[in-house]
Amino acid sequence: SDEANIISGALQLANKRVEDVMTKMEDVFMLDINTILDFETMSEILKYGYTRVPVYDGDKTNIVHLLNTKDLALIDPDDNTPLKTVCKFYDHRPLFVDYDVKLDSMLQDFLQGNSHMAIVQRLHNDKDTDPYFENIGVVTLEDVIEEIIQSEIIDE
Ligand code: ADP
Repeated sequence: SDEANIISGALQLANKRVEDVMTKMEDVFMLDINTILDFETMSEILKYGYTRVPVYDGDKTNIVHLLNTKDLALIDPDDNTPLKTVCKFYDHRPLFVDYDVKLDSMLQDFLQGNSHMAIVQRLHNDKDTDPYFENIGVVTLEDVIEEIIQSEIIDE
């Protein structure tokens, strides 16, 4: 039954890591903080249709903000507003999680309410270089819920 599947899905959360359900970095739609919100860029953001877009500074490994696309609702493309102005105004700091955090604990963090997306990172601690974090993907509340119900949520 559906109920038994959902219960079993919920019980499995403690055995799965965010890495298992994340969207890989190469598939994540991100924006450079130096982007100008002109007609072309705003059309592209709308076309992708994501609620949350990570914003990076310099290169894609350096994620500094999370853009909520609803924050663009009152922006006029003719004003050529810098994305940086919007980011500074709303100041949504991204939530970072380690790749091996378990889904039950990730769910608790999402339900605390600060953000429904986290940037998944992995610490590299090789003997030849200084330790550094690599961003390997993003995980959202929807990715965790799909594990509970054990089926894909079809987007509207
Ligand atoms: P949305 O509200 O934008 O539809 P959800 O949180 O419902 O996003 O997540 C739906 C799926 O899209 C999840 O698998 C999530 O990892 C992925 N996702 C969310 N934001 C992005 C993004 N900016 N780029 C690529 N994939 C994303």
